[in-house]
Amino acid sequence: MKVFKFGGASVNSVDRIKNLASIVQQYRQSPLVIIISAMGKTTNALEKVVEAFYAGKKEEALQLFEVIKNQHLTTAKYLLVKEYNSCASKLNDFFTEVEWLLHDKPVREFDYYYDQVVCVGELLSTSIISHFLNEEHIANEWVDVRDILRTDDNFRDAGVDIAFTEKKIAESWQLTVGEGKNIIVTQGFIGSTDENESTTLGREGSDYTAALFANMLNAESLTIWKDVEGVMNADPKQFPEAQLIQELNFNEVIEMAFYGAQVIHPKTIKPLQNKGIPMYVKCFLDPSLPGTIIHKKNIKGLPPIFVIKDKQILIHLKSRDFSFMGEEPMRQLYGIFGQTRIRPNLIQTGAIGVQICMDDKQDKTDQFAAQSGMLFDVQVEKNLQLLTIRHYEESLLNKMLEGKDVVLLQKTKETVQALFR
Ligand code: ASP
Ligand code: MG
Repeated sequence: MKVFKFGGASVNSVDRIKNLASIVQQYRQSPLVIIISAMGKTTNALEKVVEAFYAGKKEEALQLFEVIKNQHLTTAKYLLVKEYNSCASKLNDFFTEVEWLLHDKPVREFDYYYDQVVCVGELLSTSIISHFLNEEHIANEWVDVRDILRTDDNFRDAGVDIAFTEKKIAESWQLTVGEGKNIIVTQGFIGSTDENESTTLGREGSDYTAALFANMLNAESLTIWKDVEGVMNADPKQFPEAQLIQELNFNEVIEMAFYGAQVIHPKTIKPLQNKGIPMYVKCFLDPSLPGTIIHKKNIKGLPPIFVIKDKQILIHLKSRDFSFMGEEPMRQLYGIFGQTRIRPNLIQTGAIGVQICMDDKQDKTDQFAAQSGMLFDVQVEKNLQLLTIRHYEESLLNKMLEGKDVVLLQKTKETVQALFR
């Protein structure tokens, strides 16, 4: 069995949903579990609905939701004939659930409402697509993933109960097969607590859901369908000459994600790596393109891989009395990282000071500056960029840094990082 994941961009129009069906048609001789995100920018739109609701602007929230409703009903209308009524009644059930909630006054925390509202994006997209596949004679079972993917109640970043979910996923697959079907259509990114409250797994979490399904069903492979050719050695928006990498190792992808490459959700790799399940990144616009395979094999001769992170800050900490940055101040510093949940991108330790590069997130930066300010002298430098190159050559690095004012440079044999203005 294979697991497919289709992201928001691959289902953001009538034509793209038709295209999804033609891809499924091509692969349907193999049993499939299809994980789908919300259509296009629906998740962002739903975020606006919750924000308005939580700010006490009920009318605005309802109006914003009305737009989302119409978009989905229109898409269903264009796609469906025989299946339209049954689909519309399902969509209406989900609409009603959200509207009930929007009519109440918020009494719980924001993140709880966020998950109750935002989860509907995936429920709507999968309902439409499942009906459309039926209409195209691609028999499939629509599964509400909230019945099988159990999480804790850490809303917006829920942790998955692996043992429970594994059992439920296997049962759900058996039931589908028992009904003579070999395709499941279900939602990425969402789950539910043992009290039937909806949860979400963090933005872009659908890749992770797909990896969990692949792991738990011992799938032959996971394919992520994207609007790009595959994994590139740089972001084509920043580097027009970026090239496709046809084959990568799991660890390389973990490294790329760590340095900030926006290829694949970082949590996605582990479930696959643990079971040696290969992952394909393929282009839904042209499925005949080879795409990228990510697997266990060690790969030699990779091209240089570039990652650029904007909005970086460099924090200079100095001991107040010019004493050495010994083990005690360092222990305290790492304690602050733990408390503020900050993961520095680069650290350079000197005799009486430490320099720390991190993402400029206002609330985190302020929190960090306040806490470290109790122990050290603090200076903050803003508006920097961090370049990381894996598998670099000296000449390439020099070329990249031409004309740049480099404030910090770190090298290992594999990786170089330069922070510059
Ligand atoms: N729809 C969610 C998001 O936009 C999850 C996903 O697409 O993976 O973040
Ligand atoms: Mg997405």
